[in-house]
Amino acid sequence: MDIVFFGNGISEDPNPDKIRLGGKGSNLCRMAALGIPVPPGIVLPTTLCRDYMERGHLPPELMPSVHEKLKKVEEATGRHFANPHKPLLVSVRSGAPVSMPGMMDTILNLGLNADTLKGMVLETGDERFVLDSYRRFIQMFGDVVLGIPHHSFEEILNHHKKKSDAVQDTDLKPAALRDIIDDYRNLVQKGTGQPFPDDPFMQLRMAVEAVFRSWNNERAIYYRRLNHIPESYGTAVNVQSMVFGNMGNTSGTGVCFTRNPSTGERKFYGEFLINAQGEDVVAGIRTPQKIEELEREMPDVYRELLRIQALLESHYRDMQDIEFTVQQGKLYLLQTRNGKRTSAASLKIACDMVDEKLIDPRTALLRIEAEGLPALLAPIFDPTEVNAARSEKRVLAKGLNAGPGAASGYAVFQSAHAVEMAAKGKTPLLVRMETSPDDIKGMQHSSGILTARGGMTSHAAVVARGMNKPCVVGCSALIVHEEHGYADIVTEEGRHVRINEGDEVSIDGTSGEVFVGRMQTVDSDIQRAMRGEIDPASSWMARDFFQVMKWADEVRRLRVRANADTPQDANVARSFGAEGIGLCRTEHMFFGPERLPFMQQMILARTQEERELALKRLLPFQREDFERLFEAMAGYPVTIRLLDPPLHEFLPHTDEQIAELSQKIGVTEEHIRERASTLKESNPMLGHRGCRLGITYPEITRMQVRAILEAACKSRKKNIHVHPEIMVPLVGHRKELSLQKELLEVEAKRLLAEFDCHVDYKIGTMIEVPRAALTADQIAIDASFFSFGTNDLTQMTLGFSRDDSEPFLREYLRLGVYERNPFATVDESGVGEMIRIALQKGKSARHDLKTGVCGEQGGDPTSIRFFNRVGLDYVSCSPYRVPVARLAAAQAVLASE
Ligand code: PEP
Ligand code: MG
Repeated sequence: MDIVFFGNGISEDPNPDKIRLGGKGSNLCRMAALGIPVPPGIVLPTTLCRDYMERGHLPPELMPSVHEKLKKVEEATGRHFANPHKPLLVSVRSGAPVSMPGMMDTILNLGLNADTLKGMVLETGDERFVLDSYRRFIQMFGDVVLGIPHHSFEEILNHHKKKSDAVQDTDLKPAALRDIIDDYRNLVQKGTGQPFPDDPFMQLRMAVEAVFRSWNNERAIYYRRLNHIPESYGTAVNVQSMVFGNMGNTSGTGVCFTRNPSTGERKFYGEFLINAQGEDVVAGIRTPQKIEELEREMPDVYRELLRIQALLESHYRDMQDIEFTVQQGKLYLLQTRNGKRTSAASLKIACDMVDEKLIDPRTALLRIEAEGLPALLAPIFDPTEVNAARSEKRVLAKGLNAGPGAASGYAVFQSAHAVEMAAKGKTPLLVRMETSPDDIKGMQHSSGILTARGGMTSHAAVVARGMNKPCVVGCSALIVHEEHGYADIVTEEGRHVRINEGDEVSIDGTSGEVFVGRMQTVDSDIQRAMRGEIDPASSWMARDFFQVMKWADEVRRLRVRANADTPQDANVARSFGAEGIGLCRTEHMFFGPERLPFMQQMILARTQEERELALKRLLPFQREDFERLFEAMAGYPVTIRLLDPPLHEFLPHTDEQIAELSQKIGVTEEHIRERASTLKESNPMLGHRGCRLGITYPEITRMQVRAILEAACKSRKKNIHVHPEIMVPLVGHRKELSLQKELLEVEAKRLLAEFDCHVDYKIGTMIEVPRAALTADQIAIDASFFSFGTNDLTQMTLGFSRDDSEPFLREYLRLGVYERNPFATVDESGVGEMIRIALQKGKSARHDLKTGVCGEQGGDPTSIRFFNRVGLDYVSCSPYRVPVARLAAAQAVLASE
């Protein structure tokens, strides 16, 4: 039995490891070894928990070993377990390798019974204090170990408080406490059919077993799943001698941080309560005092605490979250751990610690959560308002946090209304069941987008992220009656709330929360520095951000490109450090109101002639946009994808839309209706889209290559270095690619001769159909690059619709069928395997094959680790995620080392 003793300057384990001793246990051992005063105790390692789970009971030799080890605690404290003379009381707590707050409650004051209670009263002379300790013990033990509902104890307590006119627990007199104890014991007898265990050894055994058992309670399993904590870890058990912060005015308890956890400021920060136990601080019954005030109350203790916090921070080389108790003037540290912090604080602390030479830049990179960066870039709601809104129950619902940032506006349910409202100088917020290309204009004019349906790769999500609009999708509590101008929400508490057009609502695209009413936002310094509005040196946040990006760029191997469809996107992408465009979805270039009708005309065309007429109108738009894309990305590659959209995305649906289109393109409504119904597909995602369009309508491909190369030639003449990469979408068979390639090359040759220009262009393909991955060696013959379209590749490998999976996916995630949303984080064992096969086969046919990814997962840190590992050349993501990808790519390298 490798049970470990710590205390009085000793840790029996010279190298206390978190995986084996749990976070709490290993830190207690470390503190003891550093000579920091901790209440002596023992740690039962996590291996024993695994052993318990396998057997289903405690091994017979365990408790004797615990008792043996406990003798060391008795020696160290000069107290005796289960003995009325100077009784040793202990706390029993869980402690997993990764902190799992709230997984299991703590049991305090274990070891009390009628005899030890008497001994304690004799020793302390404070009957009230001892009885109150016993009462708390029965309550905690009854709840945690015996499974009696917490509220049953609270009812008894409240009954006696009322009876004896006590306002606070501390107002209860010994006689009342004795009555409460009797009632508690009766409650236990009734609830379990057994008397409350009086034997301290039995109490200890039951508590240890309960902690091990708690590893597999529903709450803990759910928490682990949510936070991707391995099931196999198990929890350690810490049995530690009790110290009391509630033994009068020379006692107290507190929680502090070595730096400010919300701003990162290098200043000791925290709070404490005199004459209180830890749970009183958490429960918020009394308002704690600022830690600085401890200097006045207990100057020696304060000086000692200052010394210890500095020692701990320099030992761990990270910001520490510390719990302490003062018992009759003597300071004890109960816990230390790396402190949780906001994204802003993590940035500041990491950079400051490099300046202070506590850590090196590589360590600093690992201290900042890449996923936290978008929150630093986007405007945010004023945090005090958010707290107020939460406490005033103004949170209506929660959806998927699809586009970070905060937005308030007047609810509108139709895009046209958003445009009208914006024209009147008011800010709309678009609320829809879902969005389609018809909504682009409305989306552009809205401060944010909220949809009831859709996942992270739904139309609304992708377009909103591209526009950097705050966006919440898949908000299933919402039903939008678009035609009738209202929406209904059933809140988590079951309240029915109706939102009428023009009501103010707010969405937080970082948390996914939807609020009623307007909230104030504040712009981030980083954003303003990126836009050149402020000097980065004038703001610590901007300066640190640029510094971290520089370190990341020095470490990472993966290149980072952006998915950008417009010159504006491309410019933003460059300002965020994108090294090229990895995906320009050309169909998105036709969203503008002056362009959409021609795109629709092209799709609805009955004959080649009609189609060519529409294409002719589209060509100049494309050419000009490409020119500006090349300009923004001078010297960097620009990957342009040929037309890909599932046609339904562009077809007009309502009578109103049909009438409007008919006017604009000069064909009858009948004609539009008839064509739309011919083109209607029952499974558009698997329908007439991708390269199938270019193969059946070669004139589309011809127009696009023309626009690309004309733009390239014009740029060349302006001495701009252009590297167009023409990408064929949705290829499954090599013949599809070779047909398109042949067409492209013939047209390119003709055009370059016509312009008398040389352009270094490449032709490649997306890998997004499983068949393409499986036959990648054949496909690579005609492709100089592969870009993994992991949105479609996930859809087709899993057989899950990109747009309709949210309802069952949520359940799947809850049940652990998939650990993470495969549309957000690449499904390594399925889709990842497709990628591995495609890479291996592709490179076997063409050793210099360039490879990247442009699906949504390209901007996801966990996926980036995978893409780094399998050896892709680059990832491509939406412009605002470029910094996330840069940092995550560096972290991937560091993790692999
Ligand atoms: C993909 O499928 O991953 C991709 C990038 O293409 P789209 O999202 O446009 O289908
Ligand atoms: Mg695709």
